[in-house]
Amino acid sequence: MSEQTLSNLSREERRFEPPADLAANANVKEEAYARADADREAFWAEAAERLDWGRKWDQVLDWTNPPFAKWFVGGTLNASVNCVDRHVAAGNGDKVALHWVGEPADDTRDITYAQLKDEVSRAANALTELGVKKGDRVAIYMPMIPEVVVAMLACARLGAPHTVVFGGFSADALASRITDCEAHVVITSDGGYRRGAPSALKPAVDEAVEKTGDLVRNVLVVRRTGQDVDWHGREEGGRDVWWHDVVDAASTEHEPEMHDSEHPLYVMYTSGTTGKPKGILHTTGGYLTGTSFTHWEVFDLKPETDVYWCTADVGWVTGHSYMVYGPLANGATQVMYEGTPEKGRWWQIVQDYKVTIFYTAPTAIRTFMKQGREIPDGYDMSSLRLLGSVGEPINPEAYVWYREVIGGDRCPVVDTWWQTETGQIMISPLPGVTAGKPGSAMKALPGIAADVVDDDAKPVGNGNGGYLVLKEPWPAMLRTLWGDDERFKDTYWSRWPGLYFAGDGAKLDEDGDIWLLGRVDDVMNVSGHRLSTTEIESALVSHPKVAEAAVVGAADETTGQAVCAFVILRDAAGDGGEDIVEELRRHVAKEIGAIAKPRQIMVVPELPKTRSGKIMRRLLKDVAEHREVGDVTTLADSTVMDLIKGKEGSAP
Ligand code: ATP
Ligand code: MG
Repeated sequence: MSEQTLSNLSREERRFEPPADLAANANVKEEAYARADADREAFWAEAAERLDWGRKWDQVLDWTNPPFAKWFVGGTLNASVNCVDRHVAAGNGDKVALHWVGEPADDTRDITYAQLKDEVSRAANALTELGVKKGDRVAIYMPMIPEVVVAMLACARLGAPHTVVFGGFSADALASRITDCEAHVVITSDGGYRRGAPSALKPAVDEAVEKTGDLVRNVLVVRRTGQDVDWHGREEGGRDVWWHDVVDAASTEHEPEMHDSEHPLYVMYTSGTTGKPKGILHTTGGYLTGTSFTHWEVFDLKPETDVYWCTADVGWVTGHSYMVYGPLANGATQVMYEGTPEKGRWWQIVQDYKVTIFYTAPTAIRTFMKQGREIPDGYDMSSLRLLGSVGEPINPEAYVWYREVIGGDRCPVVDTWWQTETGQIMISPLPGVTAGKPGSAMKALPGIAADVVDDDAKPVGNGNGGYLVLKEPWPAMLRTLWGDDERFKDTYWSRWPGLYFAGDGAKLDEDGDIWLLGRVDDVMNVSGHRLSTTEIESALVSHPKVAEAAVVGAADETTGQAVCAFVILRDAAGDGGEDIVEELRRHVAKEIGAIAKPRQIMVVPELPKTRSGKIMRRLLKDVAEHREVGDVTTLADSTVMDLIKGKEGSAP
């Protein structure tokens, strides 16, 4: 990538040292980097000791048949026992595992580890009664209610890999995932609450089940909203079963089996920002080691005193690794919220539950920036001590806002880079060690080997940009794509032998710290210069009137590609004034250089996003190139594209 690519990011000179008390008491200190470098396998073996094993492993890593890794070979364990039973056995049964907050106000439940153990055992017994056996796949299509956690852990207990499909996805999306992993049982609910109103789920399941022929034998339904559902009960030869009939009636005694370390834990289909979803397979021992260790390391979790809250939906990998498996394996107390971000509701929850560690996505932060700091300023968030970000590069401006407004200028921000495929956080500051730079994910964690390389797989060295790669296997890495070893090799390992290609562009600054630049597919080529979307977006967001920005490269006769930007203004900026477009174009030219000046800027009310909050640039590219807008089925709100197209006429 050319020099222009990073001129504005490397101008970022703000640094935030870790708070002294956090540094002094940090779970992981600086020495960990050298220790892991000296003996990577010993480092991960020590991390695995955090778990309870039925049988210890014979070998830490078997990498004799790359890219097919085996971790903790010969070991056996049960993920659900590690997440639940062992905390009860250790005398922490009365500790709250989940402070669940429903979307309707005052609809809350506190669930202790002992209660969770009983529920998981009941659900495991009920699933057994429905014929679910070790190795069978179970699809889960549910809102953010405690039963979704119970369902996942019950599957894990039985060794029946789950595939959680986001509750907002369509019947088609659900059907294709059920078919791909051949699930015979679907767990769902009548509906969930969305923006204050009940929203049905069961009809989509019925439709999906119809589409999959005879595949699905049973649909297990939690009653959440109480709305009417079409019902085909077992008494009339149908497949529907109420959760409260079979789970509540089941015994709380369930003898767990110890599964092989490499036994499949779950299949997670990636959000599909770029194309046909891939069934990422995660297995048990390495995954649980990687997620529980990094959760303790990166969030500096003190299970005795912290109240942790990850706002991700369980239908996304972050919900799997950092709401279910990591935190529960660590015996954390956490908040789980059914709703989506609404003005002050999140901050009310932080205040009410005295949340200490908070993990969310840049998209949410930018939404709150747009609304203005008056809203969060109205709450007492002094309990917070650490903030995390995941999902997209966090723009420096959004980082600083997050730190100041939400974190009261005292909480470190950990910008965590990872993927569905990596299973665990890979690149992140260590909160007690790293002096954070706004906008940089900093360094590969101890035990992780990342680098930035050029087209020939040569390390680019400090001060240069290229492709992010991972050089050594890691415990929670994906093992393959479900049923498609070839696609697994092609997608991630074929570009350069021996290197995992993440698909993201990145740059090393002069200190060797890593700045993520967005997907390589999104990199633009303007008059022969490679420009990163992330960088221009960050330049736009650094303008005081802008809350959020998305940039795409549109075909252009003279320059090859031209920069087209879509921006959302902060509420306080009103319509931005007459010259807003010129003002922003000049701002980008000043921040990055004339080459990056957008040809076109559209002020829009919303941006198209996936359910996990990522901007879908491919749809914006369709608009910028005046094409029919492509597939919108994975959008969180499919009406957004109409709002944007409506604006098109007014663009310069
Ligand atoms: P698909 O692979 O199907 O297109 P996806 O990549 O959006 O979907 P995820 O696995 O949820 O699905 O997202 C991982 C990607 O998100 C990373 O490859 C990277 O592009 C981006 N990402 C995640 N965290 C960060 C971060 N902290 N900084 C920059 N980018 C991030
Ligand atoms: Mg991806």
